[in-house]
Amino acid sequence: MTAPRETAPATVLDGAAAAREIYARLRERVAVLGGANIRPGLAAIQVGDNPASKIYVRNKARACEEAGIHSEVHGLSADTTQAAVVATVLKLNRDPRVHGILLQLPLPPHLDADEIMQSIAPEKDVDGLTRPSLGALVTGYSSFEPCTPAGVIVLLERAGVPIDGRHAVVVGRSTIVGKPMALMLMARGATVTICHSRTRDLAAETRRADVLVAAVGRPRLITGDMVKPGAAVVDVGINRMPDGKLAGDVDYATAREVAGWISPVPGGVGPMTVAMLISNTVLSAERSRSAPAA
Ligand code: NDP
Repeated sequence: MTAPRETAPATVLDGAAAAREIYARLRERVAVLGGANIRPGLAAIQVGDNPASKIYVRNKARACEEAGIHSEVHGLSADTTQAAVVATVLKLNRDPRVHGILLQLPLPPHLDADEIMQSIAPEKDVDGLTRPSLGALVTGYSSFEPCTPAGVIVLLERAGVPIDGRHAVVVGRSTIVGKPMALMLMARGATVTICHSRTRDLAAETRRADVLVAAVGRPRLITGDMVKPGAAVVDVGINRMPDGKLAGDVDYATAREVAGWISPVPGGVGPMTVAMLISNTVLSAERSRSAPAA
């Protein structure tokens, strides 16, 4: 892959602009559903009062407004029992006004997040993180794609970044981002390398990437000298710095001088993750239209 330019800094992968376009299209689909008396609804479950989680949940509620869909937040106290959180999920599974259920992570340490997550009905798993959804992704069936990697793919495709036949390197192997990201790039024809904390020579791997996705949680781990000239660099990382500002996993200042495309933090993958969540909720409502009554 060649860089669009030799010397100019990279083209910015603008997640905020892409998300606005997605909301405009979603509003049209929501209007069609409205004609059938269906209003898509997203229910968020938040346990405790983690300040970052509160901000995320608030942003998601705002995004629901922007797309014209119903949202509700179920705020549970930090000492809520496992059984009570699961009971909340089961109630939402049966609620016809709710088409998507979001479990805001992290949960307080006494709770088993995996068990709660798995209690979400697959047809309402708009985060795409239950085992049925991830299994569908592995086997190539259509379910809900996990929001963050889905947002990365939309950002790349919107900018016309070639993926088919290219070499993609994903740094990070979490279930939420790294692993589904690798599968989704592979499904689009990329040859994929997954790096993690045991990778011996990270820079040697990242320098081979036409498409480089960093999902690590280490501020500015990827520097310009680790980027192949002309590559597309997508920064998933969100790291709160001591001065309160956000930093990505990529050192933007040096990487943008080498890359062909680069996503900023904030304003890159973050808004896309939220947009994909809302998009999956609308898709769930559309599917409920054709689903047989329970
Ligand atoms: P995890 O902590 O679950 O996974 C981090 C991964 O990075 C692990 O696979 C780990 O390897 C790997 N890793 C850690 N250190 C290194 C290193 N020095 N070199 C190479 N690999 C390393 O994080 P998540 O995947 O959940 O999140 C990653 C980042 O993305 C975080 O900053 C998070 O806040 C952000 N995020 C952003 C979202 C958005 O919407 N923009 C959504 C979700 C996450 P190992 O497996 O060996 O431990």
